[in-house]
Amino acid sequence: MAGGESIFDMFLLLIMCCLAMSFLRRPRSSAAAEEERIKTDVWFVSYEINKAFDTLNDETKSWEQKEKEQEEEKKPSRLVSVFVKRKEEERFVIEEAISPRLINVADPREGKITFELIEAEEGGTLIEVSYSQKASGRIQTLKAQLPIKVPLQNVCKSCGRPVLLDFTVCPYCGKKLS
Ligand SMILES: [Zn+2]
Repeated sequence: MAGGESIFDMFLLLIMCCLAMSFLRRPRSSAAAEEERIKTDVWFVSYEINKAFDTLNDETKSWEQKEKEQEEEKKPSRLVSVFVKRKEEERFVIEEAISPRLINVADPREGKITFELIEAEEGGTLIEVSYSQKASGRIQTLKAQLPIKVPLQNVCKSCGRPVLLDFTVCPYCGKKLS
């Protein structure tokens, strides 16, 4: 009976080891999944490109401050604040800002956000923004503040990604767009 139990314990240990191993491997695969969940939106705004760039630049610069204010409002208990302090991280770091074409922002919680600006022939600016699912709320709020003119995007029936209306071929999967 005792011998049977120790074999059972060994089994249990083995299973726990396997579980632990799979947990250790998890972060890498979930990070890869996160990467796949990158979304792309294209907006057409009536601002000329320099104004569009400045607006986006000011907005992204304000994100860190806004986030700090929000966290202060929550006023965590002393015990929690010790924990939060330990985990304090730089939010919304602007990695690249090439006026007036590109802004690259990196956030440890919401991932990478990239804005690409293109001058539209008919006036105004085309803004293409790539972001992870976690930044969706922030991006939608930003979009609501901009003078959006026409929804200039179509959705590729093959891969489901948004593409510009005048594209005849999907730039992501190469399928012909109808
Ligand atoms: Zn496609």
